[in-house]
Amino acid sequence: VKGLYLGLAHYPMKNKAGEKVCTSVTNLDIHDIARSCRTFGVEKYFIITPIIPQQQLVARILQHWQKEKSSIYNPDRFDALSFVELTASIDDALSVIEQQCLARPFLAITGAQWEGPTLLIEDISLKIRIDNRPCLLLFGTGSGLHPEVQERADFRVASIHGAAEDGYNHLSVRSAVAIYLDRLSKNQEQGQEKGIV
Ligand code: SAM
Repeated sequence: VKGLYLGLAHYPMKNKAGEKVCTSVTNLDIHDIARSCRTFGVEKYFIITPIIPQQQLVARILQHWQKEKSSIYNPDRFDALSFVELTASIDDALSVIEQQCLARPFLAITGAQWEGPTLLIEDISLKIRIDNRPCLLLFGTGSGLHPEVQERADFRVASIHGAAEDGYNHLSVRSAVAIYLDRLSKNQEQGQEKGIV
């Protein structure tokens, strides 16, 4: 999806008590989400953490896979990780996108339970095209994005709901990414068929 960037933030997050915390990077999130982004044509996948040792851990994992030898053993893994970018903050990720696209990206955030107005994920690709602006689609960790992030977002993406009787919909971040990207790319295909993209 042209103009779509994806971010996985580790600060500021909420913990179960709703306090502001910084979560640790999970190795699985690096690989799984990189592969989903690669599959659905996301421009770049930002792993966002202000903690230096965490940045060093992620950099080591990325370097390992990006070194020549790894790419021979596992080219598709090498390929998927070669467009992962590490930033210390959400603002840094937005600045990288702005430099790359020469347009200020809009920030669309995700979560399982939103109050208030939301934007359908399918409308994100249309918005990118109509406004001619890139989008940073941001995912959380821990118990979700802290209200500080919610207040500054341009849009809240409508949550993914299933068919659970009790309304349970707390997906893993890896599952939520894959579902949204699949919906976006389906919508893009349908748009192309109708000639509106
Ligand atoms: N430790 C958990 C894990 O491994 O996934 C982290 C949970 S974290 C709160 C889950 C993140 O995935 C949310 O911040 C949100 O970005 C996304 N997410 C989870 N369920 C979702 C839903 N039903 N609709 C939209 N996004 C969802």
